Amino acid sequence: MAGHRVVVVGAGISGLTAAHRLVADHPNLAVTVLEAGPRVGGALVTSPLEGTGLEVDEGADAFLVRVPWAADLCTELGLGDKLVAPRVRQASLWLDGALRPLPAPNVLGLPLDPSTVAPGILEAADLDRLAGTGHPDVPLPDGDLSVGAVVRACVGDAVHERLVDPLLGGVNAGRADDLSCTTMAPQLLAAARSDDGLLGSLRATHRSVDPTAPVFNAPRDGMGQMVTALAGRLGDRIRRNTPVVSLNRVSDGWAVGTADGGTVAADAVVVATPAYAAAALLAPVAPDGAEILVELVHASVVLTTVAFRRADLAVPDDRSGFLVGRSEGLLITACSFADRKWSHLDDGDHTVLRVSCGRVDDDRPADLDDRSLGEAVLADLATTLGTDAPPSTLRISRWPRSLVQFPVGHAGRMAEVDRDLSDRAPGVVLAGATRYGVGIPACIRSGTKAATAAATHCT
Ligand SMILES: Cc1cc2nc3c(=O)[nH]c(=O)nc-3n(C[C@H](O)[C@H](O)[C@H](O)COP(=O)(O)OP(=O)(O)OC[C@H]3O[C@@H](n4cnc5c(N)ncnc54)[C@H](O)[C@@H]3O)c2cc1C
Repeated sequence: MAGHRVVVVGAGISGLTAAHRLVADHPNLAVTVLEAGPRVGGALVTSPLEGTGLEVDEGADAFLVRVPWAADLCTELGLGDKLVAPRVRQASLWLDGALRPLPAPNVLGLPLDPSTVAPGILEAADLDRLAGTGHPDVPLPDGDLSVGAVVRACVGDAVHERLVDPLLGGVNAGRADDLSCTTMAPQLLAAARSDDGLLGSLRATHRSVDPTAPVFNAPRDGMGQMVTALAGRLGDRIRRNTPVVSLNRVSDGWAVGTADGGTVAADAVVVATPAYAAAALLAPVAPDGAEILVELVHASVVLTTVAFRRADLAVPDDRSGFLVGRSEGLLITACSFADRKWSHLDDGDHTVLRVSCGRVDDDRPADLDDRSLGEAVLADLATTLGTDAPPSTLRISRWPRSLVQFPVGHAGRMAEVDRDLSDRAPGVVLAGATRYGVGIPACIRSGTKAATAAATHCT
């Protein structure tokens, strides 16, 4: 392996993880990371919130800990003792013009106990069905199904539309009726096909989990800590402001072309960009795989961070925020009470809200300029939280085409991409949110697997 070169394209969490794994586990490899933009981290960025003295995430603010990849990486990076969990877990739902508590316990919005469903959310017939085991009316067909197809078949349309879609659709700004259950919620598909039924199986799993164990974690000073730690280990192996524009096969490997007209030679290449950028690079060398990638739809979202003086707006101490159903007619899709959730964002003076807008089928936020968007967000906060006080600060972070949508059959299509790469572009591997899911653990998993594949190619 000595002297072999690996280029990683893209320095989001997926690419940084791939590069880190290559450097840490294969010290003989020469690793270069090429990042299009001036900063690394992609959708992970923590920055000062003007006028507050707080450092607040502009994108992701936490990762799931019931899967190991992100927590393990933090431990390896020396951040293990800096991880914190949200102080509050209970969220609400804006439904039919009122905030209502989300039932707890729930799995991706699906209530496990109908007695915890607050009045006004479901009809009596839906609650009766939730009291059962959640067996589908007819056996589910084989293969992947949409989340909507599974939930509707097992517990009915209302549970899907009023609880599961707002939650799961909120995670990647999609429509749960269109999303692959295998990729987005494999535990639901497995439970729905089990002898115990969807609810019976989820209840049994829930009983075996420590109810006090945290579901999410984040480094105390924000997700940017992970980026700083990874970038620190990679040092000058990272080249910023270096968009990759081409990938050409040459006699001894790959020539990675950059926008400044340069070329970086590589034996293996990890492409860790969003799917549409990967498709453009792969089209000449693996056209079938590129065609699958180019067809993937991406949702654009905007994260608005708003701070109010506490005297002007106080939110409940026992709530982490609220979700908004797609039928409510609001621009906002979710609002997180950041200072309630995270003790490090509680300065005693401010109520800090992180407000999401934008769905795969709602481009209104992307079309509004910052001023109009800010006004629309404040109008929705006036409706939902009842404040019309001016905020002390408002920051808009736009994330165009940031959340890939996983159609039914996605995992199979990713296997086709891998086959095309291995047949026609040996040594080129795909990482990123496109692979296993948009969540940070899934991205880290993709980077880890891509590093192994690239290193194996070099041996
Ligand atoms: C607003 C928002 C909130 C989120 N909240 C959460 C959350 O709380 N928890 C969670 O788990 N997940 C969350 N996510 C999802 C998660 O943050 C992302 O899925 C993840 O960070 C994607 O990482 P990535 O490395 O795959 O891609 P990206 O972060 O998109 O990074 C890709 C990198 O590739 C670079 N690039 C693109 N093209 C080229 C090129 N041609 N040459 C060189 N470089 C290129 C880009 O500049 C970018 O730096 C959120 C996402 C958003 C947008």
